[in-house]
Amino acid sequence: EKEKFREKELESVSSKDMEDYIGFANLPNQVYRKAVKRGFDFTILVVGESGLGKSTLINSLFFTDIYSNEYPGPSQRIKKTVQVETSKVILRENGVNLTLTIVDTPGFGDAVDNSVCWQPVLNYVESKYEDYLHAESRVHRTTIVDTRVHCCLYFISPGHGLKPLDLEFMKKLHDKVNLIPLVAKADTMTPEECNQFKKTVLNEITQSKIRIYEFPDCDDEEENKHQKRIKERIPFAVVGSNVIVEANGKRVRGRKYPWGVVEVENMEHCDFVALRNIMIRTHLQDLKDVTNNIHYENYRCLKLGAVGKSGTTANKNPLAHMEEERKDHENKMKRMEREMEQVFDMKVKEKLNKLRESESELNRRSEQMRKTLDQQKRELYQKWKEFEKERTTFEVTNQDMDDTHRRLTLTLDMS
Ligand code: GDP
Repeated sequence: EKEKFREKELESVSSKDMEDYIGFANLPNQVYRKAVKRGFDFTILVVGESGLGKSTLINSLFFTDIYSNEYPGPSQRIKKTVQVETSKVILRENGVNLTLTIVDTPGFGDAVDNSVCWQPVLNYVESKYEDYLHAESRVHRTTIVDTRVHCCLYFISPGHGLKPLDLEFMKKLHDKVNLIPLVAKADTMTPEECNQFKKTVLNEITQSKIRIYEFPDCDDEEENKHQKRIKERIPFAVVGSNVIVEANGKRVRGRKYPWGVVEVENMEHCDFVALRNIMIRTHLQDLKDVTNNIHYENYRCLKLGAVGKSGTTANKNPLAHMEEERKDHENKMKRMEREMEQVFDMKVKEKLNKLRESESELNRRSEQMRKTLDQQKRELYQKWKEFEKERTTFEVTNQDMDDTHRRLTLTLDMS
């Protein structure tokens, strides 16, 4: 088409006066040829629990078996920790090369505790920004290979609504990457259930103030009308399939069930075509632009801002620098003094507590001893009383015996 455009343009030029023709009208063709020659890089991050049909959908999107060689079957991919794996393919269509990188995150949401399973994904996204920033700030900048993540397809499990992990993930990543939420395995729901589910998901996303990627309008009015209908389908409910089946005498990519065939590329069956059209045919470049102009720029500003803050003293005059250092030192000493006072107070308090404890222990013991002594005293007194009683009885008995004896002696004497 571009070539035809160029030919037409040259025809119109030749019909005019060649003297008036400068040639910049040909610039778009130059840019086009250069871009085609260079090819395009595009990176898609796919996130979602195992078995939601991520690899099947990616293969369906690009009519290829991206995962066939490097990617084991789903059952083998269930891992306890989240991993980040990349697969790369070079696709060619009408002489245009697209280097497509698919970043998968096997293990996402599969563990018992998924509280931080978004972290490896976030690390990956940021590491790619870091690589790009590094490449940009090199003295000799050759053509930079753009490995940044241009969009994230987030697979939502069909059901009643978003899970806490879905919300957590989107909140962590929505300002770092272009988020496109997808309802996975849409063929497992009836059309009514699917529409209801989409509404619930969209509501929850809005209420949680999560910003998903907004497909912008284009310049063409007609195209906008068409795209509006596509945008109404967000979040796209998708169906994937790796096989070609027969439906109504046609061979189509689909899923065959006893009651009929779900056609992947039938807009009445699912939103697969809507997703493919808007993501690849019309908005691939915008996804790249938003990544570069917004997400990467945010990252860059934060990063360079942090460097700027730590490097503020470098530009000051030496006296101001010394004065600042002196103040810093003073503050440090004061802080140390305060800390030492706090430690001293703490130690004194500890000592006082210990003394109080030992004092109460001594009191307790002396009370115990006093009680024991009282008890012993009472027992002795009791014994003494008993002894006194015995003694009196003994003395009385003894007196009686003496009297008897005396009387007997007297009687004997008289006789
Ligand atoms: P992944 O672990 O998320 O990559 O999931 P796979 O693509 O490996 O798919 C897991 C299973 O789900 C496979 O048996 C697929 O055939 C099946 N599957 C994939 N996409 C769909 C779909 O759209 N609908 C249904 N019902 N099953 C699907």
